[in-house]
Amino acid sequence: MNSTAALHAVADDPIDRARAMVAVADLLTALGYDATDEHLIDTPRRVVDALIDMTASEPFVMTTFANEEGYDEPVAVRGIRFTSLCEHHLLPFRGEVDVAYVPGSRLVGLSKLARVVERHARRLQVQERMTVQIADELEDALAPRGVAVVVRAEHLCMSIRGVRTPDAETRTTAFRGVFQSDPELRGALRPDGPGRMS
Ligand code: ZN
Repeated sequence: MNSTAALHAVADDPIDRARAMVAVADLLTALGYDATDEHLIDTPRRVVDALIDMTASEPFVMTTFANEEGYDEPVAVRGIRFTSLCEHHLLPFRGEVDVAYVPGSRLVGLSKLARVVERHARRLQVQERMTVQIADELEDALAPRGVAVVVRAEHLCMSIRGVRTPDAETRTTAFRGVFQSDPELRGALRPDGPGRMS
């Protein structure tokens, strides 16, 4: 097992790389290709390595610190890029996440917000669940007065196959606490003035 595999999100479910390579070779054969052809011979290894890479994230500890100054306005990080892998088609979906929270007694380093996004993006996922998981983790770690997560993504399973809607953007949201009770606060997530967040 290589070092990438060791970072896999599901630690108690070790990756059987050799078996996965056999499975990809079988898939090529089943689709009518000659998996022993010189141009395809390394494809199973490449596919497995790519899948492992796309479903692994760097472990990190969500260190928080005291909100000594009593900051009580939204803290927002917008435009966090991510790529995930749709669990229905094993095709990527990718886009941007805006994350905001209104602190209670704890603050978190801003880079950790991007790390939380990566932790939940780099695995087999659906966008709706990813949105909720990001909000849940921030709620659990920070006990904030409110959390807001907005995800906008293009799904390759929609844009390059099936209905082929290349410009469709899928938007999901999670508004908790004061972001739920006071929609005005959601303005903290607007990239450039009113309109984008409706
Ligand atoms: Zn899909």
